[in-house]
Order: sequence, then C-alpha cells, then structure tokens
Amino acid sequence: MGPDDPVEVIVAEREYLTVAEALRLVLDGVPVLPAGTVPILDALGMVLAEAVVAQDSLPPFANSAMDGYAVRAADVAPAGAGSPVELRVVADIAAGSWPESVVTPGTAARIMTGAPLPAGADAVIPVEDTSEAWRSEDRSLPERVQVYRAVQAGDYVRHPGEDIAAGAVVLPAGHRLRPQEIGVLASLGIGQVPVVCRPRVGILATGDELIGVDEALRPGKIRNSNSYAQTAQVLALGARPVNLGIAGDTEADVRARLQAGLDAGVDLFVSSAGVSVGAYDVVKRVLEQAGNVGFWRVRMRPGKPLAFGRYQGVPYLGLPGNPVSAMVSFERFARPAMLKMAGHTRLDRPQVVVVLQEAIESDGRESYIRAIVSPAAGGGYQAVTTGGQGSHIMTSLVRANALLIVPEGVRQVPAGTHLEAMMLDWPAEVF
Ligand code: AMP
Ligand code: MG
Repeated sequence: MGPDDPVEVIVAEREYLTVAEALRLVLDGVPVLPAGTVPILDALGMVLAEAVVAQDSLPPFANSAMDGYAVRAADVAPAGAGSPVELRVVADIAAGSWPESVVTPGTAARIMTGAPLPAGADAVIPVEDTSEAWRSEDRSLPERVQVYRAVQAGDYVRHPGEDIAAGAVVLPAGHRLRPQEIGVLASLGIGQVPVVCRPRVGILATGDELIGVDEALRPGKIRNSNSYAQTAQVLALGARPVNLGIAGDTEADVRARLQAGLDAGVDLFVSSAGVSVGAYDVVKRVLEQAGNVGFWRVRMRPGKPLAFGRYQGVPYLGLPGNPVSAMVSFERFARPAMLKMAGHTRLDRPQVVVVLQEAIESDGRESYIRAIVSPAAGGGYQAVTTGGQGSHIMTSLVRANALLIVPEGVRQVPAGTHLEAMMLDWPAEVF
C-alpha cells in the first residue's frame, strides 16, 4: 500500500468490522521497516534482515571435551579388560595453546577442556579415569600416567565443524534473535548484525481530564495511565516509544503533538481516546481533516471505536480511551502491527484451549475476557475469570494471565465450554 492510499475507502460501506477484518486492514496498512546494522547486543529481540553464513567452522579445530589425557584408543584397549595401561606423558596442553608434540604409541598428553587435540591422538581419557591425583593441590605434570579404562577413537573429542560447518547458512533471514542466537553470532565473529529496524512509536494521550503521574488528584481529573501502559507495551515488544505527552481536547493541541511525532521520525502513531462519538472527540476531527484515516466500529469487547490509517503518511492507530479497552486493542491490533513492522512473522500470542469453570455472558461481540488459565488436574488447561470486566477495571487485567476469546455471535457461555485463551503470560503464572 502506498503512503497515501486511503484505508477508509475499503470500509466506507461497512458499519461494523469483525476483529479479523480490522486486523487484516491494520496489518495490510503497515510496512516492514527497512534493515540496518546494529552492534550485536542491540540486536537482541530483533529480526535478522539477511541470512547469516558461517565464515568459520565451529569448533574451528579438534579439541578435548574433558580435562584428561589425549591418547591413542588402540593403546588403552587392554584397560577395558581390567588391566591398567601405563603411558609416558609427552606434553601438557592448556586451552589456548597449540600443541607441537605428537602422541606416538605408548605415550599420552595431558590436555584441558577446549585445548587442541595433538597429532597422533584420537581420543581423550577423563582425568578421573587415570592415576593422576586430580583432587590434590599439586597438579604438576606426571612423567607417566596409568589409564583405568578403554575408549573408542573419537571419544571426548569435539570435531571441527561438528556444530557449524564453514559456508553453512546458520540463521536464515527473518530469524528472531534470542540470547542463544546472540551467542552463535558472537562465536562466528559477527559483532555487527543486519536486522530489521525497531519501530519508533509515538504515544499520545488525549483528554482534558488527564493529569500527570506525579500530580495530586483534583476534582474532575484522573491520572494519565494510558501513556504509561502503552509505553510499557511498546517497550515489552522491543520497540522504541516516543512520548508525545497529553493533548488537551483542542485540535491545535492534538496537531502540535502529532507534529512533534513527525519531527521525531516516528514509524507509527498510537493514541488513546478521542476517537469515539463524544462532543469533544477532537482527535477524530484532526484525523478526519488530515484524511486517510478510517473510524471503525469493531465488533469487539472491550474496545469498539478504533481509528486506523495514515497521518501525514505515517501509520496511525487510534485506540479507545478506557484503559482496558486501550490495552486490549493494543494487544489485538498494535502489537501484531508493530511485530510485522519489525520483521516478525509470528504475530500472535500463543493460544491454548481451556475449559471454562464458570458460566459467563457476552453481548455477541468477540469478547476478550480477563482470566486466569492454569493446568487442569486431568491434563489440559482450565480458566476462571478475574472479576469485573468493565473497560475501566484495570485490576481484573492485573490479576489475569490470559484473555479468553468468546467468539462473535455467542451470548451465553456455560461452565464446561472449551474456549481459546490468548496467553499474556504462561499458564503456570497464576496471580
Ligand atoms: P474517550 O475515548 O475520550 O471518551 O475516553 C474514554 C474513557 O477513557 C474516559 O473515561 C477517559 O477519562 C478515559 N481515558 C482517556 N484517556 C485516558 C488516559 N490516558 N488514561 C486513563 N484514562 C483515560
Ligand atoms: Mg475524551
């Protein structure tokens, strides 16, 4: 979609959208961001923009998996029958050194974990299976060592390229970088990593009733919690929040704060409130004048009004104002949109099927019910709701580890019903 293609045209004739339709439009309306190169540790949580091809093999050379003695397996075979084999010790190979000596028949080299296997040796005997006094303070190199067990050629040897062969594609483009991938990149000497950029997300709260988190309450005012909740949601995704503050309910104020976002180069606007049908819903008016924004009524509970489109070419998502509606709408629409922008292909939260433990009612919209999901005694998962489901009741979201999805069109949900649960945390985390 081009920067000025009007999203609202697609839905002009539609009064209501299903959640799936709205999500499709949102996802189609945001781009995958361009790639850049970042220092390795900054790449944590980001998505590879290019495949990583190994320049080196890993391990780069044959080395010992144990502290012990490098031997020829054939030499120590008699130890398998119960008669220790005595070998002359010809070298002491520490990790980081390179062995010059050769293990010839009847000899062994003491070797440390990670040290290169000397020429002639084909196996390692763990020190615990030798006569060396490995528990004592004195670890001076013995002249001779007795070996108490046999080994096969290759035992306790890590072979070059066993983990990664030089030239192999180790990680494909699109792969998400977790700590283990960071470790692999480091082992391959990749200190600068090509990744899809993190979205910069401008976060705007709107409403004359809002005051700052450090301000004392005064009549008619509430603290702006949405900016913090949405900033935390953005941070939890590894994206970069840009705080655009609180806009009062005037068009000039909203415009000025959106301009600040444009100046900061945001990739996405996320605002809360002001997009419904109230007399002071000025965000709606500003966006209408700017064009390219659709005002949707999504058949979803909590959350119904949703604005989506572009403001001055930048994707814009206007969430409802009620704190739970804002957070759940963020989960449903902003989160997958930001993940797509950051190059991810898995956009959904994990879902499990749960057995509902109580009867609940819905109003026919696709409902996201705050609940605790826990393992059921007989296997599978069960769920109980966490109390008041009003869109202003934050504490039931605090107690929840999941959102149960009551499908569109359903009004009565008896106890025992199987429902999909969108997991916000893993089921074991019960609050
Ligand atoms: P609105 O969409 O402007 O009608 O707002 C819906 C509800 O959400 C009202 O009760 C607002 O006071 C509340 N609300 C709007 N913005 C915020 C915010 N940033 N933090 C907390 N509550 C808010
Ligand atoms: Mg308002």
